[in-house]
Amino acid sequence: MRIAGFFRMITDTGSRPSNKRNIITDMNKVMIIGGGAAGMTAAAAAAENGCRVILLEKNEKLGKKIYITGKGRCNFTNACDLNTFLENIIANPKFMYSSLRAFGPYEMIDFLEENGCPTKIERGQRAFPLSDHASDVTKALEKCMRENGVDIELNTEVREIGAMEDGGGYAVTAVNVKNGKRRVYHADSLIIATGGLSYPSTGSTGDGYRFAESFGLTVRPLAPALVPVTVEEADTALLSGVSLKNVTITALDIETGKQVYESDTGEMLFTHFGLSGPLILSFSAKLSHELEEGKKYRLSIDLKPGLTREKLDERILRDFDGAKNTDIQNAISKLIISSLRLPVLKQAGIDPHKKVRDIKRAEREALSDSIKGLSFTINGTRGYNEAVVTSGGVSIKEIDPKTMEVKGHPGLYFAGEVVDVHGYTGGFNIGVAAAMGHAAGTACARR
Ligand SMILES: Cc1cc2nc3c(=O)[nH]c(=O)nc-3n(C[C@H](O)[C@H](O)[C@H](O)COP(=O)(O)OP(=O)(O)OC[C@H]3O[C@@H](n4cnc5c(N)ncnc54)[C@H](O)[C@@H]3O)c2cc1C
Repeated sequence: MRIAGFFRMITDTGSRPSNKRNIITDMNKVMIIGGGAAGMTAAAAAAENGCRVILLEKNEKLGKKIYITGKGRCNFTNACDLNTFLENIIANPKFMYSSLRAFGPYEMIDFLEENGCPTKIERGQRAFPLSDHASDVTKALEKCMRENGVDIELNTEVREIGAMEDGGGYAVTAVNVKNGKRRVYHADSLIIATGGLSYPSTGSTGDGYRFAESFGLTVRPLAPALVPVTVEEADTALLSGVSLKNVTITALDIETGKQVYESDTGEMLFTHFGLSGPLILSFSAKLSHELEEGKKYRLSIDLKPGLTREKLDERILRDFDGAKNTDIQNAISKLIISSLRLPVLKQAGIDPHKKVRDIKRAEREALSDSIKGLSFTINGTRGYNEAVVTSGGVSIKEIDPKTMEVKGHPGLYFAGEVVDVHGYTGGFNIGVAAAMGHAAGTACARR
């Protein structure tokens, strides 16, 4: 058998298999690289539709990332309608239209329930396993795979892939990470579901991007997204642990002075290095590439978004009434939580011990400014180690959105976070990964 890519691959790794038993050949086989949400859904779909499936996973267990999602509870999708789902996809929502129509949130809920994982829907339509155990999601996927005969090979890291010269499928070189044994596989169809670069300790170390590039495919620039941010002001560390509810944030590009971001009302959190929480993660996802390039932003927190400037001023005046001999820091105690009083007064340039009777109108206005815009300088992110997703990835222009097949490479598919699609928090990222996996798995079966 003359296989250009295949032989090139063997030469590259330095040793040619000594006998044919090292080459597993089966012309009706689907091979899947990666046992995360996308890879497992793809394997289940392909096997349910009659394919012979091998799934290669480099970790010692499947779905290592799934275990840590949703704080160990796995918010596996969002039970909203298709339009709302697409609105929550930040990068390339239109690309997801077909696959989500075929395998959207309700199909995913049904799939899990049919495979022994009862589910529930919580605030914001977030879907979780009823047990609150992320492991039950993986167990359901594994159950479906095993019942349909998927051959799961753990501790198996794929190092190289190549196309057969005669168009007869793909060759995959993998190494058993436990015993170092190298093996070459051959399959008709190959689904690459290796995840992105975020939380690399879970196995997503960006291998899929390298595989894509080896086929000459475009990989869009990568950046950590849905990630906590760092701030320049060192004294923010003193606020570590303070969480804010019902606030909004806006961000100005420091270079241009232009407002580039405005949030809805939500929650955020101060940490020892900067800021985190849902509002901040969404901000980081929207501006991930700019942050990665080193752009700085002036982030302002509106601590009282429910009050207009006039109403806030009236409220301050009311609080000042009858407190003329009180220190200003105590006079605002009902308005501002204790941990933020000093930062708010500092930004307003007011001595916290100044008596209310001595506060001038301009100072009162500065206090309102500070409450409506407590500001920090964002100078970076916490990187891939703390990013929920990776922004960027294999260009959607390379991929058929109905099947996830790479254009011009019949039988080669990409699915999941490795592709240039990511959404906000709320179950949208696993939902996206599963929809792509399902599309790829069923498409393999149709080939
Ligand atoms: C802390 C955290 C919490 C999150 N919470 C949520 C949530 O609640 N809801 C939500 O929707 N999303 C959440 N996400 C995002 C979501 O988990 C991912 O977007 C999604 O799981 C991606 O699935 P995937 O299958 O594409 O990739 P992954 O889950 O990363 O799976 C890729 C798999 O491929 C394997 N692999 C990689 N390279 C190779 C190779 N060369 N050979 C063999 N195997 C390989 C990896 O070991 C890994 O198991 C969270 C992410 C993090 C980090």
